Order: sequence, then structure tokens, then C-alpha cells
Amino acid sequence: MENIDLHCHSSASDGVLAPAELVRRAAARGVTTLALTDHDEIAALAEARTVARELGMRLVDGVEISVTWRATTVHVVGLGIDPASDPLQRGLAAVRGSRAARAERIAEQLEAAGIPDSLAGAHAHAKNPKLIGRTHFARFLAERGYARDVKSVFQRYLVSGKPGFVPHQWATLEDAVGWIRAAGGRAVVAHPGRYKLGRAEMRGLLAEFQAAGGAAIEVVTGSHRRDQFAEYAALARGFGLLASRGSDFHGPSDGGAELGGIPPLPEGLVPVWHDW
Ligand code: AMP
Ligand code: MN
Ligand code: MN
Ligand code: MN
Repeated sequence: MENIDLHCHSSASDGVLAPAELVRRAAARGVTTLALTDHDEIAALAEARTVARELGMRLVDGVEISVTWRATTVHVVGLGIDPASDPLQRGLAAVRGSRAARAERIAEQLEAAGIPDSLAGAHAHAKNPKLIGRTHFARFLAERGYARDVKSVFQRYLVSGKPGFVPHQWATLEDAVGWIRAAGGRAVVAHPGRYKLGRAEMRGLLAEFQAAGGAAIEVVTGSHRRDQFAEYAALARGFGLLASRGSDFHGPSDGGAELGGIPPLPEGLVPVWHDW
């Protein structure tokens, strides 16, 4: 049986598993097509490809780009990208480049809140020093007992309004979609149900995304509740957008969905993989 999972993370971004382990785990869980979609990073694709080839599993080259749209952070997944694409590589390098200074500010603010040494602590959890992010801080804070788990750490320290939150300007929606298209890929709005947008704003996002050349939205994702599957299925149909499915797996014990461990797409949608 086909099991297509088009969203997950390796230790090249904020996933726990090395790319090779991730691909092996996906195959063992019955995933037949996997897209590796690290945040702002494509360095793990080569290793993932080697293992996927050994296992006879289909690997889709992917990425998840951090975007700022009207002051909201939105994630745009690129599927079927050419990792050798020059505009994509340059765009991602610029987005990654801004993470170091942000991490320093996060650490300063946490220090002011009475938590020392969090920059080194976060780096100890980040295999890729160029891709330091909030998850690495969260793992350090959880390990030190500042909250009972990573999710609680986020709520207490790392989201808007909390001591370790640093507002950040990511790529524009147009740039992110443009880089993905320049690399021959298909752009997908990741986990739309996670953004704090009203109905009209969500429609505005999807309209701008589509106008920029965006192709699809995630309907079934580990980040959506069951009722949101139907909600975003309706939006996909209404806008004529393709529908994607992905676990957003970050690690075996992080509380999220397992690789391939999410429901099938609802009926009446055109899957983003329809012509693959
Ligand atoms: P960053 O790109 O550094 O802002 O980190 C974003 C990542 O943090 C997301 O991809 C998730 O993996 C994680 N994340 C964001 N919000 C939460 C949350 N409320 N609970 C757990 N993880 C979160
Ligand atoms: Mn993440
Ligand atoms: Mn995301
Ligand atoms: Mn993700």
C-alpha cells in the first residue's frame, strides 16, 4: 500500500535523527515516498538519497522555508526541488545566515530572565551550527528542567510575548515561492491551521500564495486536528490548490506524528503528487 509522507526533519535542521536514520525509519514504517523538508536547509538530501536508493524507497528532494507574511511566520514547503539550483541555494543561505544573530538575542533575553548559557546549551543540541533554532533552545531548557517538556518550554519561554521570543524577519512569500519554482519545485503552504489568522486573512494568504505561483496546501499534517482536515480540504477545493500530506516528524519521542503515521487525504482533492 502506498504511504506518502511529504514533510519531515532531520538533524540538519531541528529533527533528532540523522538523515540516514530518518530514511531507514520511514521505510521501516511503510513509507513508500518520503520528502525530506529541513528548515531552510538542503544539506541532508544527499545522504538521504544514498540510503533511499539502497532501500528502494522513493525520496523527494524538499525544503521548508521560513517566511514572514504580514508579521506572521508562515512555512512554505518546496517539493521536487533541484538541490543544485543557484537561486534556491543563495536564498536559503541568506535565510540561514540570519539565524545566528537571532540565537544570540534569544540567549541574551533568556539570560536576562535568569537562564544562563543557553546559546552553548542550544548549540549542544544542534548538529548543524548554521541552523540554530528555537527547538534547540527548547531541548536545552527542557533538559535543565525549566518546564516539563519541549512543548511547555515553548509556551513558557519561546512564543510571542514570552521572555525568549525574538521577533524575526524571514524571507518574503514571493521570494520563497520564487526560489522553489526556480529550482523546478512545487510550493506548498505548510500546516495552514497553525497560523493565528482569521478567515479573511487565511484567504488573503492563499490568494497571494497562489498569485506568486504557489501550488498546494497541506491538508493532512501532524499539526492539524481532525476537524481541520475538512476545513483545509474545503479551502484547497475552493482555491483549486493541490493537497499535500505530511507528518512533520521531528523525532521518535517528541510527541508529534510518526513518519507516515497520519490519515489519508480526504476524498475529492487533487494530491500534490498526482502527476509524479
Ligand atoms: P524556528 O524556525 O527557530 O522559529 O523554530 C520553529 C520550530 O519550532 C518549528 O518548526 C517547530 O519544530 C518548533 N515549534 C514551534 N512552535 C512550537 C510549539 N508551540 N511547540 C513545540 N514546538 C514548536
Ligand atoms: Mn521544526
Ligand atoms: Mn513548519
Ligand atoms: Mn516542519
